[in-house]
Amino acid sequence: MRSDVNHVLEFPGGYTRSVGPVIGRFLSELRDGRLVGVRTAGGRVLVPPAEYDPDTGEDVTDEFVPVGPAGTVTTWSWVADPRPTHPLDRPFAWALIRLDGADTALLHVLDVGDHAEPPRFLKTGMRVRAKFRDDRVGGIRDIECFRPEVTSITDPSRLEYRLQGGRALDRFLSGIAEGRIIGHRCDVCGQVIVPMKGLCPRDGVPTSEEVELPHTGTVTTFAVNNLPDPRAPEVPFVSAYVLLDGAGLTMLALVAGLPADQVRMGMRVRAAWRPREEWTKSMSNIKWFEPIDEPDVPFDEIKDYL
Ligand SMILES: [Zn+2]
Repeated sequence: MRSDVNHVLEFPGGYTRSVGPVIGRFLSELRDGRLVGVRTAGGRVLVPPAEYDPDTGEDVTDEFVPVGPAGTVTTWSWVADPRPTHPLDRPFAWALIRLDGADTALLHVLDVGDHAEPPRFLKTGMRVRAKFRDDRVGGIRDIECFRPEVTSITDPSRLEYRLQGGRALDRFLSGIAEGRIIGHRCDVCGQVIVPMKGLCPRDGVPTSEEVELPHTGTVTTFAVNNLPDPRAPEVPFVSAYVLLDGAGLTMLALVAGLPADQVRMGMRVRAAWRPREEWTKSMSNIKWFEPIDEPDVPFDEIKDYL
């Protein structure tokens, strides 16, 4: 029998249903500010929990496992124009987030701050952390959103970053041992740091994206030295800050191949490498930088790197 009436399903005051023991436990823990998953018979941890293993249809176990509150973005979708029903009134991302300790991903709001376009650091694999509401009721919205993990340097984690810096420098010197100059690109400011330190000095965030740089650059500032130095070809010699092409920071180097009094700010230079058979895992593989036949770079273009 057909009906011509448009059915409306509406429960004044809201639709209340029993959530069952598994979802109920998840929501109760959520209300208390904790995240849990449920373990399947096969050993996987489902978040959000389900009563059945989605792969096998088997009942899950009664073991609940603490997960999060941090996790990893597995995929995301940018919302440039949020609608009135959306949880934020400025651009944000819907993201699938695999909480630490979980084997499945949870869909939630990812708030990356005030950006009209997806920022560079928003990518699969980025680390995020749940932000809980103060007034929790036992619903998925008890998590207000996820936000990028705080990665700036604070005293308790300084040691960790020193270790990262050591690894980064080791990686840099491994590149030098192969005749390559490697830097790290910062996810936040986009600048290439060379030699890399494992973090961006401007933003304080860890860096890991490797970028190989050309061996040419520009002298930003320099000093004429009149005391002998075993690394320098002669006295007087010039030490200079060289901004490699594509780099966001200068590196300290010797400049040779022309009389010291002819070195100038903005001068174009190229790394002069020692013969390959003399290479070791050290900066001394680059003897110095020598001038190349290119016009000087105007002061305006280097003044921010002095
Ligand atoms: Zn940066």
